[in-house]
Amino acid sequence: MTDTLQITDIPVAGYERVVRGVDPQSGLHAIIAVHDTTLGPALGGLRMWPYASEEEALFDVKRLSRGMTYKSAVAKTGLGGGKAVILGDPKKVKSEALYLAMGRLVDSLGGKYITAEDVNTSVADLEIIRRATKHVTGLERKDGGSGNPSPYTAYGVFLGIRAALGWVFGDDSCKGRKIAIQGTGAVGSALAKRLVDAGATVYGADRNEERLQQLQKEIGLVPVSESEILSMQCDVFAPCALGAILNDESIPKLNTPIVAGAANNLLLEPRHGKVLADRNVLYAPDYVINAGGIINVSVEFHPGGYDEKVALTKIERIPQALKELWTIAKEERIPPSDAADRLAERIVADARGAKKDAACSVPPKGQRRG
Ligand code: NAD
Repeated sequence: MTDTLQITDIPVAGYERVVRGVDPQSGLHAIIAVHDTTLGPALGGLRMWPYASEEEALFDVKRLSRGMTYKSAVAKTGLGGGKAVILGDPKKVKSEALYLAMGRLVDSLGGKYITAEDVNTSVADLEIIRRATKHVTGLERKDGGSGNPSPYTAYGVFLGIRAALGWVFGDDSCKGRKIAIQGTGAVGSALAKRLVDAGATVYGADRNEERLQQLQKEIGLVPVSESEILSMQCDVFAPCALGAILNDESIPKLNTPIVAGAANNLLLEPRHGKVLADRNVLYAPDYVINAGGIINVSVEFHPGGYDEKVALTKIERIPQALKELWTIAKEERIPPSDAADRLAERIVADARGAKKDAACSVPPKGQRRG
């Protein structure tokens, strides 16, 4: 059977490569954005979403892949940033043929982009993609992968919340603290369990009523409506559902001294970091506090292969990274989100400079010794 996958480049300034893959046979319509590979191959998840247009998908994949560069830079994973999106309703378009075509699209980049699980894609989907390309991470442990990243993301967020409590209240204990979680999915529910174990009272909102009731039964989580969770009085608001929820409309409604959660791209616009700071709300920059999953996956690339102990040790550095950012933010009177962006940009620029210097210091062929 002939391969009907058509791959075309989409030129985008500031991105190393952006490609569109369209396969009429399987119905695949996908975009991969490789933002930056200065620090290593671009690793980022594969998202499936019913985007209204390709323009909307392109906007999302660009934003997400840039975020991955920043996240990996600050977390020192040795990886660059990329992301992939499949346009379509997961209930309608998922098929083996579609994922095999996606695998061929990933493979066409020759390892410059490495894919992983993300919203609406699962390890089972990745197993199919793996048949068409080796550039896949986050497979099951039994298959040599690092497994589901969500518990590791939740662990990092939990440690980050404790660091934030320590920063604001001078005591990092969760005992007696009120913590409101928006979105009790894979990360939110694991986070809720850790917080309850540590003595916090946890409130949760989710579109999935069943999940909330189960958590209420299992750990005593207090269900709250979707509209209430953002404005309820609490010690920490932990957004673990969607991005862009911190905006001009929502920020004035917050009734918390801390925002620290797992969702990506929480600030609708970078300026919302300042809006939070002006209201005296301590913000844990999203891509710093939620790096546990990518840190765990990155350990797959270590010389000896995946080792959970190595992953946990690295995740346990998240509180220190946050404290450093909050210190810079205080000293330089900038929002923590800006401090994080500056740090990430500096790490990438320094590595780019070092690579250039190394390339320049190699003598021309005829002058090399030996
Ligand atoms: P998930 O899909 O398992 O959970 C998200 C939950 O949010 C779902 O239960 C959903 O019903 C709920 N939800 C959606 N809209 C909501 C709303 N308006 N109000 C309340 N709840 C709502 O996803 P996840 O893997 O737990 O990830 C959560 C967030 O963290 C996402 O933004 C994801 O990008 C980010 N993140 C996840 C990881 C990871 O390791 N899974 C790593 C880094 C960042």
